[in-house]
Amino acid sequence: MTGWVAVAGLGPGDDALITPQAQSALAEATDVVGYGPYVARVAPRPGLVLHPSDNRVELERAAHALDMAAAGRRVVVVSSGDPGVFAMAAALFEALETRADADALDIRILPGITAMLAAAARAGAPLGHDFAAINLSDNLKPFAEVERRLRHAARGGFAMAFYNPRSKARPHQFARVLEILREDCTPDRLVIFARAVSTPDEALRTVTLAEATPEMADMRTVVIVGSEATRRVGRWVYTPRSVP
Ligand code: SAH
Repeated sequence: MTGWVAVAGLGPGDDALITPQAQSALAEATDVVGYGPYVARVAPRPGLVLHPSDNRVELERAAHALDMAAAGRRVVVVSSGDPGVFAMAAALFEALETRADADALDIRILPGITAMLAAAARAGAPLGHDFAAINLSDNLKPFAEVERRLRHAARGGFAMAFYNPRSKARPHQFARVLEILREDCTPDRLVIFARAVSTPDEALRTVTLAEATPEMADMRTVVIVGSEATRRVGRWVYTPRSVP
């Protein structure tokens, strides 16, 4: 039997947002590997082995998936959203760098609907022009680098999408992020807090930068900051297609 490894995105939460391609890979899989809550979204069935693991063991998890594929298993590594956006696809390639069989392995990256796109669709079209996606977590980069990228994105006129905006382990950093934004953006800039999009807990809230507070974000929230041109029409928020 020829093994393979597919790195699949399960989308933001609603099963209707899992692509048919990811569903077929899961239907053919012998093993599913990933962070516990994502593996829990895969229905158990006879012949399928689930390997949930902790959040912080990405490289070990990727190496385990590659080992199993090399041994002939059909492995799906699951991420939420899209596997290439702050997720497992890059970790898999990092693990691949240490192997001699890089091109002999059958590897597939199956895209998914990432949180910022699901959130943007609920709000209207706030990412309708140029935008930058920034991971605010300092687990994998120093916070000084987060600050630097944030300033450049704000000064560059981009709309922005923030992933991992705020956690219990680092409650103060998002307050600092708002401070930095206030240095470069006017107080009427629109900010969308989109929590648990496409799940039963979904909550969307649009405020101005002046009204935004750190408590409006948590780890289940993606924050979209509009550009200077982003505006409201009725209950919608959108960024026009052209810049004057
Ligand atoms: N690969 C994922 C992102 C993983 S990082 C993707 O493409 O979406 C985890 C962060 O994604 C969370 O802290 C949050 O900022 C965001 N996120 C994931 N699912 C979300 C959802 N359903 N609603 C809002 N934000 C979400």
